[in-house]
Amino acid sequence: MSTAELTIDLDALTANWRALDGHVAPGVETAAVVKADAYGLGAAPVARALAGQGVRRFFVAVAEEGTALREALGPGPEIFVFSGHMAGDAVVIRDLALTPVLNSPEQLTRHLEALPRHPFAIQLDTGMNRLGMEPGEWQAVREVALAAGPALIMSHLACADEPDHPMNAAQLARFRELTDGLGIARSLAATGGILLGPEYHFDITRPGIGLYGGLPFAAARPVAHLSIPVIQIRELEAGETVGYSNTWTATRPSRIATLSAGYADGLIRALSGRAVLFHGATPCPLVGRVSMDLLTVDITDLPDTPASLDILGPHQTVDDLARAAGTIGYEILTALGARYRRRYREGA
Ligand SMILES: *Cc1c(COP(=O)(O)O)cnc(C)c1O
Repeated sequence: MSTAELTIDLDALTANWRALDGHVAPGVETAAVVKADAYGLGAAPVARALAGQGVRRFFVAVAEEGTALREALGPGPEIFVFSGHMAGDAVVIRDLALTPVLNSPEQLTRHLEALPRHPFAIQLDTGMNRLGMEPGEWQAVREVALAAGPALIMSHLACADEPDHPMNAAQLARFRELTDGLGIARSLAATGGILLGPEYHFDITRPGIGLYGGLPFAAARPVAHLSIPVIQIRELEAGETVGYSNTWTATRPSRIATLSAGYADGLIRALSGRAVLFHGATPCPLVGRVSMDLLTVDITDLPDTPASLDILGPHQTVDDLARAAGTIGYEILTALGARYRRRYREGA
């Protein structure tokens, strides 16, 4: 088989959820964010594994993801939709029992007119200026919204991955001003917010990346393991070049392995000449350009001939790879392609 194998370690995933849940007080509920197909790792198996740990609240980005998640989970767990109640979504929201997070007075009106008495949440903007009602908008609709009984009021932190950033305390203060004393469940913290400390936790936390093994949860166990088969090995003389545009030249007699994955699989071209792959614990440099379906790797220093090399695993996290490409672990994960053979490891 020449397609690479992406192994998703559901035991590591659930261990990460338990570890994050261990950061919050017993009365605080740890939910799970499974948007973008659970950060590329498969919303259905991921959410089922988390539901098995007792997770009862899930967050997705758009209603279509909520539909797929409801089909995977069945009735029971609460599924929040961050993008809220968009025009045309009423039937899906009702039939699949989704809880839209209403982001504007327009969404609130649309929801209360189309689906009075159907559960909803409210998002307030506390300074990120991305989603949520502005304080003035909230003032204007507060009474109507509260009379209808929101399931949750939430906001989102812009700088939670930088614990010392003054934005964190500023957003916390604004969130408290807008929501103190309402007697409604509140949520402010994603992964980064959980690590900022208990005053950020409120009633429900919403971790995403930490569940999947990414920063800022430095203690996370890696969840994604990606192993790429070697298609061919060739011997080069010093002075020969490798790949498109001749960007790498052998400075010594070299052994080059050609591997079956490329930028079409999410191994972005920015990794060219900057990443390593692993044979066991031994790093082997990626040389030349990443092409659509292929990588070329210098295995001159390996004593044996590998059948495959690992690009994600115990020796290289999504954040290590992201650093090599000048991006973040979130982007590496969500870019992982559709072509991999996916294997879910559980109960090991
Ligand atoms: C994506 C997202 C989360 C999860 O964030 P992580 O940094 O992945 O933990 C939580 N809340 C909102 C509003 C989000 O968009």
